[in-house]
Amino acid sequence: MDETDHSEMKEMEENSTEEAPSEENPAEPNPTEEAPAEQSEVEQEPAEQKSRKPVVAGNWKMFKTRDEAQDTVRELVGLVGNIQTVDTIVCPPFTALSAVEEVLAGSIVELGAQNVHWKDEGPFTGEVSVAMLADGGCRYVIIGHSERRHYFHESDEVIQDKLERVFSSELVPILCIGESLEAREADRVEEVILGQLERALRELTDPQTSRIIIAYEPVWAIGTGRTATPEIAEKVHFLIRNWLSDHCSTGIADQVRILYGGSVSPENASQLMAQENIDGFLVGGASLDAQSFAKIVQQSS
Ligand code: PEP
Repeated sequence: MDETDHSEMKEMEENSTEEAPSEENPAEPNPTEEAPAEQSEVEQEPAEQKSRKPVVAGNWKMFKTRDEAQDTVRELVGLVGNIQTVDTIVCPPFTALSAVEEVLAGSIVELGAQNVHWKDEGPFTGEVSVAMLADGGCRYVIIGHSERRHYFHESDEVIQDKLERVFSSELVPILCIGESLEAREADRVEEVILGQLERALRELTDPQTSRIIIAYEPVWAIGTGRTATPEIAEKVHFLIRNWLSDHCSTGIADQVRILYGGSVSPENASQLMAQENIDGFLVGGASLDAQSFAKIVQQSS
């Protein structure tokens, strides 16, 4: 990362009144807090038609009972149910998967899970398998979210095992990667991002890699209201796509969808989406509200 990035980041920090999250202290999610619109020097342009179909996935984390989940997706389907140009996904907690599946039946909104175990079955209290998720109607699963890496000590090796297991099924993994604030301030973004990619993807075949969805989620932007500027996000997305091109092929690099995640809101989605290498979003807080999430989907279409 060059000096410009560093000073942009510093400026972002100085403008913020919140304590910075770190690998040791990631931000507590605050779904009720509306992320402020990020100041950006990028001119807002209409999103160019990209060859990759955009994906907008909502990560509900540990929020919503079954009834609440059903109410939210009922409203969401009413708002985005005819947007065919975006893959819209909701990832409720395990307990609400079947309730949400019932409401989503026949709609184009799809179901994902937030986590999975790497074994088929066994004495792993509290865990769920790939087969259980598929049986529960899931088509996607989030792997390696920074909250799981931090709070549940998921290593790159665990993430690699999960990915390999997911690829023996029809599920599509959404692999999360992202640097901490310390890493960004120490100009280690490239090292961290490429290291995470290398360790997660090294055992995969090219056909497997071409199926993956990657979510770039800077840890300092998750749940904090501090979105990466479109320039900062685009720079990392470009880095990821280049890595795919060098390590797999340009065909695969062109095909893989790379999402941005970190305080995405209806106020900042279209500027981010206008970037060449941003193919959609992984949305936390703003996905809990059907109206906000629907606006993000609409702006990505
Ligand atoms: C997330 O949980 O993946 C996320 C990006 O959260 P938020 O949108 O709330 O920052």
